[in-house]
Amino acid sequence: MCSVTSFDMNSSLIDPFAREITYLRLSVTDRCDFRCVYCMSENMTFLPKRDLLTLEELDRLCSTFISIGVNKLRITGGEPLVRRDIMSFFQAMSRHIKSGDLNELTLTTNGSQLHRFAKDLFSAGVRRINISIDTLNAEKFSQITRWGKLEKVLYGIDAALEAGLQVKLNTVALRGFNENELFDLTDFCARRKMDLTFIEVMPMGDLGIEDRVGQYWALNDLKDKLKTRYTLEDLPDRTGGPARYMKIKQTGQRIGLITPLTHNFCESCNRVRVTCTGEIYTCLGQEGSADLREPLRASETNIPLEAAIRRAIAAKPLGHDFDYSRGDEGGKMSRHMSHTGG
Ligand code: SAM
Ligand code: SF4
Repeated sequence: MCSVTSFDMNSSLIDPFAREITYLRLSVTDRCDFRCVYCMSENMTFLPKRDLLTLEELDRLCSTFISIGVNKLRITGGEPLVRRDIMSFFQAMSRHIKSGDLNELTLTTNGSQLHRFAKDLFSAGVRRINISIDTLNAEKFSQITRWGKLEKVLYGIDAALEAGLQVKLNTVALRGFNENELFDLTDFCARRKMDLTFIEVMPMGDLGIEDRVGQYWALNDLKDKLKTRYTLEDLPDRTGGPARYMKIKQTGQRIGLITPLTHNFCESCNRVRVTCTGEIYTCLGQEGSADLREPLRASETNIPLEAAIRRAIAAKPLGHDFDYSRGDEGGKMSRHMSHTGG
């Protein structure tokens, strides 16, 4: 990615645009028990298991990031909770929460396995989680996820709340699909004291059949629809990501809008992504990646790994080039969202 070979190994992680990198999103598997139509094609080819980093290697990788300035870790996928023995990895990461080196250990999940794991996640120090759900209609849910069962996810949401986890729902805003559920979704979350974030559909990977530009529902339109029923107050909350937040005065709940298409908030980006095979992507919307598996395996010390992380961050691009304004999938990535974990 970059020819830079020497770094200040004691400095924090600062990219070429003076952005401090403090947030790692780690995909622990590319596999999933759903096949959401905007995320995966029906017949996905998955990585051979032998290519994956072991849980011990993932621990070393995350611990190295944490030792050089990462203080927030999100586990994602594919579906992170389908990776075998993943709870032992969460348990291992809890030591960084206990030591205070990590401010937050969290995950993004489709919710299908939460009934099994919600309590264990809480005891590993997880306090807030994101659950993805695009519709509250069982038939539409089966249609959009191809393989998913709404009932199981609703059960998972209840299990998470009962375990004491704070839940935020993530909903991909899809024109002609969930436009008419805007208020149902909002009410569903308000009743459970959950925040709700809408995401604009991004051009990631070839899906064969779906028309992404046709699916795109711009979130400024969604916001205007919300205003017909509620009073919205813009909040100053920032997470270093593309989300902007508002409060619904009548219910007190927080609504997030992730708008990579209508607004580009890359200037405050604080994150990098690592795949389950140890590729680091420093931008979700650019093709470039660097390999961390080889330096991780090359030495028992973490020095080559740390140098490779610093080298990748020293080449972090300014931002993505997603753009539907010309009626096509401008800035489209060849990889699927499940590869880098969203
Ligand atoms: N399987 C987990 C889940 O669904 O929450 C974690 C991985 S999934 C790739 C992470 C997030 O990316 C989900 O909220 C999903 O809805 C979102 N996503 C997937 N493909 C997308 C796309 N093309 N555009 C926008 N969001 C997408
Ligand atoms: Fe699986 Fe999540 Fe992608 Fe849906 S969005 S197919 S649940 S990885």
